[in-house]
Amino acid sequence: MSRPSSWSIGRHRPRPEGPLTGYKIAYPMISADSRRGGFNGVALGRSQVYGAVADAVCIQSPRHRCPSSWCDCGFYCFHALSDARDLACDPQYQHCVLLEIAASGRFVRYELGLRYARQTVRSVRLGRCGCGRPATALADGGPGVVGWRRLHPVCGLCAGPRPVVTPEAFGVLCGNVPVRAEEALDDTLAPLAGVGAEVDDATIVPLLSAEVALLQARLDQVQSRLEQLTHRSD
Ligand SMILES: [Zn+2]
Ligand SMILES: [Zn+2]
Repeated sequence: MSRPSSWSIGRHRPRPEGPLTGYKIAYPMISADSRRGGFNGVALGRSQVYGAVADAVCIQSPRHRCPSSWCDCGFYCFHALSDARDLACDPQYQHCVLLEIAASGRFVRYELGLRYARQTVRSVRLGRCGCGRPATALADGGPGVVGWRRLHPVCGLCAGPRPVVTPEAFGVLCGNVPVRAEEALDDTLAPLAGVGAEVDDATIVPLLSAEVALLQARLDQVQSRLEQLTHRSD
């Protein structure tokens, strides 16, 4: 992710003893042969896929070490999980997952986060499916990069019969990283009373039939209007 313009450089602080914890968003990726999992950055690193442990590389110049003070290179993260969550609300990042990472090596500290050389992904949170329910699996979706397909977090209902990767399986593909569904999405949003999370065939068939009848009626209207217009222009 590129450094947001609102990020000001923080005051110098003593070097930490160990890795620093941070939070960021990324697209979950699976290799073309489905044997490896990884992550794709959302801005500067869009063309690259990184694994659970990775060293930053500069795409502008291979001649300096990341993060260079006169370049934008390096990994980026926020100090606070809430800031990463806020960024995930932007429509262009809707299908991202949230990563908790450990930053090590050279780093630059900003008020909101860090730019750093080495990253270890400690855990992955799947977040929400596009429908608003907690995501429980990952399905194919969106554009990939050479050698990698992009995955989208989905819930069981939206996944339907599509093949999915379970959180556990994705964690193993990434080198045993814990991957979990969001512990608790806020309870402000809930299904309407009487509409359960499980919709069985007996319920869905009349609903779909009613929807088809409505569509048919609308199609008839459009067709007759089209005929009127066609005859008028004859
Ligand atoms: Zn650079
Ligand atoms: Zn869904």
